[in-house]
Amino acid sequence: MLFGKYVNNFYRKYFWFFFFGIVALIVVDYFQLLIPEIFGNLIDGAESGTIFTNHQELNKAVMWIGCIAIIMFTGRFTWRYCIFGVGVRIEADMRDMMFLHSEELSYSYYKKHKTGALMALYTNDLQTIRSYFGQGTIMLIDFIFLGAIALVKMFIINWIITLVILIPAVGIAICSLFLGKRMEEKFRVRQQAYEDLSDFTQENFTGISVIKAFVKEEEEKKEFNNINTDNYNKNMAFLRYYMLLSIAITLILNLIVAGIFAGGVYFIAGTSFNFTIGNLTEYVSYFNTLTWPMMAIGQLINLRSQAKASLGRVSELLDEVPEIRDENVITSQIQGKITFNHLTFQYSDADTPILSDISFVINKGQMVGILGKTGSGKSTLVDLLLRMYNVPANSILLDDVDIMKLSFKQVRDNIGYVPQDNFLFSDTVRNNIAFAFNADEVDDKAIVDSAILSDVHDNIVEFAQGYQTILGERGVTLSGGQKQRVSIARALIKNPPIMIFDDSVSAVDTKTEEKILTNLRNLRHNKTTIMVSHRISTVKDLDMIILLDEGKVVAIGNHNELLKSSPLYQEMVRLQTLEEEVNND
Ligand code: ATP
Ligand code: MG
Repeated sequence: MLFGKYVNNFYRKYFWFFFFGIVALIVVDYFQLLIPEIFGNLIDGAESGTIFTNHQELNKAVMWIGCIAIIMFTGRFTWRYCIFGVGVRIEADMRDMMFLHSEELSYSYYKKHKTGALMALYTNDLQTIRSYFGQGTIMLIDFIFLGAIALVKMFIINWIITLVILIPAVGIAICSLFLGKRMEEKFRVRQQAYEDLSDFTQENFTGISVIKAFVKEEEEKKEFNNINTDNYNKNMAFLRYYMLLSIAITLILNLIVAGIFAGGVYFIAGTSFNFTIGNLTEYVSYFNTLTWPMMAIGQLINLRSQAKASLGRVSELLDEVPEIRDENVITSQIQGKITFNHLTFQYSDADTPILSDISFVINKGQMVGILGKTGSGKSTLVDLLLRMYNVPANSILLDDVDIMKLSFKQVRDNIGYVPQDNFLFSDTVRNNIAFAFNADEVDDKAIVDSAILSDVHDNIVEFAQGYQTILGERGVTLSGGQKQRVSIARALIKNPPIMIFDDSVSAVDTKTEEKILTNLRNLRHNKTTIMVSHRISTVKDLDMIILLDEGKVVAIGNHNELLKSSPLYQEMVRLQTLEEEVNND
């Protein structure tokens, strides 16, 4: 049995499944052990000849066997359905619980944990927990009941032989525990080799364009060959060990059976003990039945330690407290005024602040640019505005209300965001654009309108399936610029009081950029819009530009003001004009 705060309630929830499953298993175990006795009696009857004269005895035996077969069939079906079913149900419940919790966790959690490791929790660890609740329960019950009943019956038939064979039997149980541990280690190594192989293959296919561009195919083939050979060797090592182990155990068990026969013949021939040929066959059958619980106990102990470790890892995820939580929230109508008030921010794992003493005010309806070189802290600033991280009290205000006092749902609902990485889902273009809503809540016109505003409509209608075109791995691959524009359309359709574009027009040419900016100016009239960029062309016509450098605000003003006052801005304009000239030549 496995206990822990996340699994205890399953015993109550699935009590009847456990109950009927275990009862059925015990019934099957009991009836299964009646068969050797009937066979034993039949053999004794055949030997003495009574069975040939007394047909009633034979008929009774056959009927009994028939009844037992029906009971075992029903019982086996019941326990399999109930006990394996419990495993599968618990796995599904836990997966639900984990996913619901994962969705609540803050963005920072995902920055710290690798997706691969998280996926392993959802696959390997949950499977181990399922096996323990399924197979583990069966092993435990079989060990207790099948083992105990078989052993008692063996004692009753011949306690001397039973005492003698108990020594190697206990030995096998203990060995199976230790050898099982070693086998598990080999299994783990084999599993790791397989993971390496699959990681390599996946990365190779994902990065195939880089590999081809750098003509690295031959090196990749060699590398693959090494990893594949390693995988082969570890598989073979496991297989060799496994084969040797199972052959050795079968050999020892057969030796014990031979010993039982030798002892049995001795007792049959002797007169001191009432021991018949029928008793001997019955006894050997019990012994054969006993081998499973003997081995099961070793497997059970190993499985339990694996399941405990897996439950520990899963609990760690479930124990994780979301960093961003709502406390004492107040509701406020967000109009679009943004104030940064001496904000300093440092990532929890960094030594120095990424943003220092940031102060500025953006009034409702302004269209503002945040300009800065790469790494200057622009995306961090925007993430803070979306409340992806906690900030000191009163350092960011929305309409003069501390952002920490607003619920993060309220904050994010009122802000449209076009992220820098433009992630799109493997779904239709339509569903991607309508992402902020339920797909059937949005009419086609709204979708087309926002695609027109972000200047991607013409591209979409050129696809054979138009807005129904599936994007992503199993569908059409969009160009960088098309992706950006679909991502813009997805945010525009919300048209909230505040919109943030994080470097969202960097992959489109300046003419398209101009078109999108003009559309935005019309659509966003009287609403706050923030354009993050490292390109002067994006921000030069905006109402205000906030120039960031190494996490500090170095200048604020419009294009002409900054041209006069800020040496850094002048330098950026000079360099980008030069760049443009070179590109145009
Ligand atoms: P770009 O124009 O290239 O998008 P940016 O101005 O948006 O750059 P940010 O992404 O805000 O820059 O990053 C600012 C600094 O913060 C960088 O030095 C980056 O390495 C660091 N940084 C970003 N995310 C984290 C994080 N989760 N933990 C620690 N440091 C981070
Ligand atoms: Mg950025």
